[in-house]
Amino acid sequence: MLIPFSPPYISEEACESVLAVMRSGWITTGKKVQELEQLIADFTQTKRVFCVNSATGGMEMVLRWWGIGAGDEVIVPAYTYCATANVVLHCGATPVMVDIKPDDFTICAEALSKLITPRTKAVIAVDIGGMPCDYAEILAALEANKAVFSPDNDKQAMLGRPLLMADAAHSLGASYRAKPAVLATDVSVYSFHAVKNLTTAEGGAIAWSLPEDFELEELYNWCRRFALHGQSKDAFAKFATASWEYDVFEAGYKYNMPDILAAIGCVGMQDYAQVLKKRKHIFDTYTAFFSQFPEQFEPPVYETAEKTSAYHLYLLKLKNATPAGRNQLIDKLFEKGISTNVHYKPLPLLSVYKGLGYKMGDYPVAQKLFEQEITLPVFYTMTAEQLAYVVEGFKEACL
Ligand SMILES: *Cc1c(COP(=O)(O)O)cnc(C)c1O
Repeated sequence: MLIPFSPPYISEEACESVLAVMRSGWITTGKKVQELEQLIADFTQTKRVFCVNSATGGMEMVLRWWGIGAGDEVIVPAYTYCATANVVLHCGATPVMVDIKPDDFTICAEALSKLITPRTKAVIAVDIGGMPCDYAEILAALEANKAVFSPDNDKQAMLGRPLLMADAAHSLGASYRAKPAVLATDVSVYSFHAVKNLTTAEGGAIAWSLPEDFELEELYNWCRRFALHGQSKDAFAKFATASWEYDVFEAGYKYNMPDILAAIGCVGMQDYAQVLKKRKHIFDTYTAFFSQFPEQFEPPVYETAEKTSAYHLYLLKLKNATPAGRNQLIDKLFEKGISTNVHYKPLPLLSVYKGLGYKMGDYPVAQKLFEQEITLPVFYTMTAEQLAYVVEGFKEACL
C-alpha cells in the first residue's frame, strides 16, 4: 500500500470552478479573490482579509507596512520553516531567534520576554502544526516591556508595542480561548500552498485583527496597491470603467492572487469544516495508538483547555531515538510505502543562518525536539485502511 505524506485535496467541483473562471474571460485578481477573502473573513471572524500569492509574500507585506527596516529586530522561533525568518532578512532587519516550549513546539513567551530591546519592532509567532502559540503570555511580555519600545512611525506609536504577527501557515481553523486564534494576534497570515490544510496550489491570506484605532478599509486599500506595484488602480478597476488613467505611489511588489487560484480556495472553504473533522479523527487515531507506548512515543499536544489545533502536522516524538535512528525509521517506513517527514530542521542548522552566526546550541529545546521528531501522513482522503497500515508499519518497525 502507498501512503503519500500530504497530497492536496482537489474536488471535482474545484476543477469545474477553475474551468468556469478560465472560460469567463477574467483569470487574474477579481471577483473570485473577493469571494475567497469574504469566506475567510467570515470563518475567522475578522473584519478584513487580503489574499496574496503566498504566505511568505503576505508576511513580508505586513512587515513592510509596519515599517520594518535596517536596524530593527524581529523575534522569531528557532524552530520553524525558513520563510518566517527569511522575510525579516528581505526587509533588511535582524531575526532574533528564541527557543520553543518542549510540550507543543510553539515559541516560549518567557524566553521571548528576555530578548526584547528598543530595537524589537515585531514578533512572528508560528502556530506550528496548527497549534496556536500562547498569545496571552506573549502579549503580556510585550506589554510588560512597553517602556523600552521605541516607535519609528505613527502606526508603531499608536500600538505602543511591537506588532504581534502569527505565521499561521498551518493554523486556519485553530482556536484560542474558544475563539479563532487570529483574534488573539494583531495579524495572522495563512498559507494555501499545495501541502497546507486549505490549498489554492500557491497562495495565502492576511487576516487583520488590529485594535479599533487602525483604519481597516485604508489598510485594505494599501494592501491592494502594494501587492500590485503600488499602482492606484488595479486591472479589474480599470476594466470596470472606461477611464484608463492611473498613478504609481511607491515601488510596490507583485503579490496578488489570481482568480483561477481563488476558485480552488472558494470550493475548498465549503468542505473545510469536514476537512478539519477528518484531520482530527486521524490525529485521535494516531494518539490512541501511540499513547499505549509511553516509553517509546510522545504524541503531540493538539487540544488543551485554552487552545485547539487546526490539525495540520502530526509531530510525533520518538523518545529514545537518536537522529540516525529516526532517519532509519523513516527509511524503513518508506520501504513499506509510508511517507513521513521531519518538521523542521531548526533555522540555526541551515547554511544561511549558520553563516550569519546563529548557533544551534543556543536553542536546546529546538535541537532536542528536532532530533526526535517524525511527522506522520495526514490528509483528507486518507482511508481507514491507509490509517491502519501506517499504525501497523510503526508496530513492525518500532515495537
Ligand atoms: C508553508 C509555510 C510557510 C510559507 O508559505 P507559502 O505560502 O509557501 O509562502 C511559512 N511558514 C510556515 C511555518 C510554513 O509551513
